Amino acid sequence: MLTPQLLDTLKRRETTLWINPLRSPSRPAFDPALVEQAARRFQRAGGLLARTVRSLAGGDGLVESPLIDAEPLRQALAGEGRWLIKADHRMPLAGSVKARGGFHEVLAYAERVALEAGWDGEDFASLAEPGWRSLFDEHRLIVGSTGNLGISIGLLSRALGFNAQVHMSRDASEWKKKLLRDEGAEVVEHDGDYAVAVQAGRREAEADEHAHFVDDERSELLFAGYAVAGERLASQLSAQGIEVSSKHPLLVYLPCGVGGAPGGITFGLKQVFGESVHCWFAEPVESPSVLVQLAAGLDSPVSVYDVGLDNQTLADGLAVAQASMLASRCMLDSLAGVFTVSDEALRGYLRLAQERLGERLEPSATAGFAGPHWLGEAAGRAWCEANGVDLHAATHVLWSTGGGLVPDEVFAGWVKAEEPE
Ligand SMILES: *Cc1c(COP(=O)(O)O)cnc(C)c1O
Repeated sequence: MLTPQLLDTLKRRETTLWINPLRSPSRPAFDPALVEQAARRFQRAGGLLARTVRSLAGGDGLVESPLIDAEPLRQALAGEGRWLIKADHRMPLAGSVKARGGFHEVLAYAERVALEAGWDGEDFASLAEPGWRSLFDEHRLIVGSTGNLGISIGLLSRALGFNAQVHMSRDASEWKKKLLRDEGAEVVEHDGDYAVAVQAGRREAEADEHAHFVDDERSELLFAGYAVAGERLASQLSAQGIEVSSKHPLLVYLPCGVGGAPGGITFGLKQVFGESVHCWFAEPVESPSVLVQLAAGLDSPVSVYDVGLDNQTLADGLAVAQASMLASRCMLDSLAGVFTVSDEALRGYLRLAQERLGERLEPSATAGFAGPHWLGEAAGRAWCEANGVDLHAATHVLWSTGGGLVPDEVFAGWVKAEEPE
C-alpha cells in the first residue's frame, strides 16, 4: 500500500527501503519456455555475432559479462559476506545490461525477416553474407530510449545491416546521440521524457510495415533476453565454486528504470535458484517508478509524477516515471523489495568503483551498491531474520549495468563534481 508515511518519505526525497509484502512462491507470471527459446537463440546466433561484431571476432559469439570479485569495495563500504560485481558495463558492443534484451530482440527480428524471405533457418552465420545484408537494409528497427537501449538496438542493428531509428528523451546524453549517429543510426530527439520518446517510436513504427518497434514497456522478447542471465550467472557462480543454498543465499541488487532489465534478470534467477535468491531493485529518489507501482497495487498505472516527484536524476538510465506493467506483474510476488538512492550517493559509488576496483561505470550502474547497507539497517535486519538470511554467509551480487562506452571527459565530469570546492 502507498501509505501516507511512505508517500511522505518519497515526497521528501528521503532514501528508503521498501519491503515487498506480497512476496510468495507461486506460479511464474511469465512463460519460462520463452526464456529457453531466448537462450537457444543466443546460442545459435553466436556465429553471426562473431562475424559481425568486432569485439566478438574469433570467439564463439557469446554475449556475456564477467563476474568479478568486489572484496575491496566490500571493505570500503564495511559490508558483510562475499561481494561480487556482475560487470554488465563490460558487455560487448553495447557496454550495458541492454545488450541482453536488446540483442535478443534484434536477433529475433533478423531471424523472422530472413525466414519470411525463404531462409531455411539452419545456419545463422550465413546471415552475415551480402545477400541477407541487403535484405536487412530494406528494414528498420525503431526504439524509444533514455539512451542505453537505443545504443544496444542501434549498434547491433547497424552491425547486421539493418537501419535503426532511435527516439531519445531529453534526459539522454549528447555523447550517446553522437555515438549512434556516427554508426549510421537515425536519432530523433524529443523534448519530453522517456515515455514520450517511446510513444513517438511506437507511432512511427505503426506506419511502416518494414519496421519493427522494440517496446521497452511491453516487449516479451526483451524480457526473455534479460532472463537468460539467470542460467549464465548460475554457471559463473558454480565455476567459481560458490554455493547458493538456503544457508548461503544469493542477494542481488539491480538498478531499475522501467523494470524490464532487472525484472527479466530476477525472473531468470528465480527460475534457477528459487527461494535461495533474493532480488532487490535500486531506484533514484526522484524516479522510484517500480516502488510506487508495486506499493500501489497493479489495478491502475501510477507514476512518480502522481506522488509529486519530477523524475530528474543524474542516473539518466533510470529516469523513468512510469514502470512497465509487464515487469511489475512479474515482480509482484517475487521481488524482495526496492531501495532508493540519492544522486550524491551515486557519485560517491562511481568514484569508489574506479578507485577500489579500477572499473569505470556510469551513475545508474552504481545504484545497487547501496543494497547491502539497507539490509544491515533495522528494517533490513528484521527482513533477514524473518527470511532466515545470514548476511555474513550470503553472496552479494551488485549488478553493474552500464558505463562501458562512456567517453573520458564525460566520466571526468562526474567524478570531479564530487570533489569539495
Ligand atoms: C536501462 C538501464 C537500467 C535499468 O533497466 P530497465 O529495464 O529500464 O529497468 C539500469 N542501468 C542502466 C545503466 C540502464 O541503462
